[in-house]
Amino acid sequence: MNATKRDYYEVLGVGRDTDDAGLKSAYRKLALKYHPDRNPDNHEAEEKFKEAAEAYSVLSDPQKRAAYDRYGHQGLQGLGASQGFDPSAFTDFSDILGDLFGFGDLFGGGRRGGRARAQRGEDLRYDLEITLEDAIRGLSVEIQVPRMDVCSRCRGTGAEQNDGLVSCPMCHGRGEVIYQQSFLQIRRTCGQCGGRGQIVRRPCTQCRGERQVRTERKLKVTIPPGVDTGTHLKLAQEGQTGHSGGPAGDLYVVIKLKEHPIFERHGDDLHCTVPINVAQAALGAEVNLLTFDGLETVKIPESAQAGASVRLKNLGMPRLQGSGRGDMFVHIDVRVPAKLTREQRKLFEQLRETRPAENEPHEKGLIDKVKDYFM
Ligand SMILES: [Zn+2]
Ligand SMILES: [Zn+2]
Repeated sequence: MNATKRDYYEVLGVGRDTDDAGLKSAYRKLALKYHPDRNPDNHEAEEKFKEAAEAYSVLSDPQKRAAYDRYGHQGLQGLGASQGFDPSAFTDFSDILGDLFGFGDLFGGGRRGGRARAQRGEDLRYDLEITLEDAIRGLSVEIQVPRMDVCSRCRGTGAEQNDGLVSCPMCHGRGEVIYQQSFLQIRRTCGQCGGRGQIVRRPCTQCRGERQVRTERKLKVTIPPGVDTGTHLKLAQEGQTGHSGGPAGDLYVVIKLKEHPIFERHGDDLHCTVPINVAQAALGAEVNLLTFDGLETVKIPESAQAGASVRLKNLGMPRLQGSGRGDMFVHIDVRVPAKLTREQRKLFEQLRETRPAENEPHEKGLIDKVKDYFM
């Protein structure tokens, strides 16, 4: 019967000199692909899953691997490996599969032994909207962060002090139940007590048996100059408290910039638009602009075209990473008067008479293009 057995290296699709990490990764891939949860009622997948598990259980054991390398499948007889399939081997693979969704539970997920494992608390997110001015200067703010803390009255048991807890009738205090699922013998955390081995008879009056209470904490956050919408500031260990002695998660303050009436941010640069009239555009002008660094005089050159811009160096956003600042771009919006006074009309007419073709663009204008279609 050993004659039909496939080579273990071939099963895992690895070379004979593969190291432990290589084996682990190859096995993990196969186990995920052929896992019974993902291939319900698929006999072939089930066989492949078993085959991969068997190959891995041999090759990951140095003694068995050495015997297999020398004598092949025969070499394993007497080492207790090749005598059919040993489902208990699976429970040792929780370090390989345990961190994946669902599999941790299927394989006992490190909660073997019946007691809940120390678990890191969840990360929390806090959205903070600030103004562009604040983003340029940086600021320090106090925020109120709601989170769940371990109940102080019951210290997280969820029960009243003296006779609040009783041994779980489902798992008899072991915290886990063992049963058969297809070909696997599975140890699963007891659903009734959540692996604690005890259930609450008299719930704690402060947390009503929830083990946690909602608290609001005040935290000071220092926001460095240059932050942008989407910037994450991490406050280590200020997230949700851990379970069973695990560390707290982190808190992420996520920045959103309020829209500014004048300035728009693109990367580290700021952009704004200054309206000027036709005469200013033609003759050049000086326009006062209130920037975040005070009043700046923007020099608009002669013959400024609509859409042109003036660059003010180093008046943009401070760079969050690195030093220095971006630039400010003042875009010119040439406004043609909506209504002309009689005098203005005269002046424009004179202008038209003097140099009629002066301002013809090099390219054919839109009007000419349209005319082509109607000739
Ligand atoms: Zn139980
Ligand atoms: Zn309590």
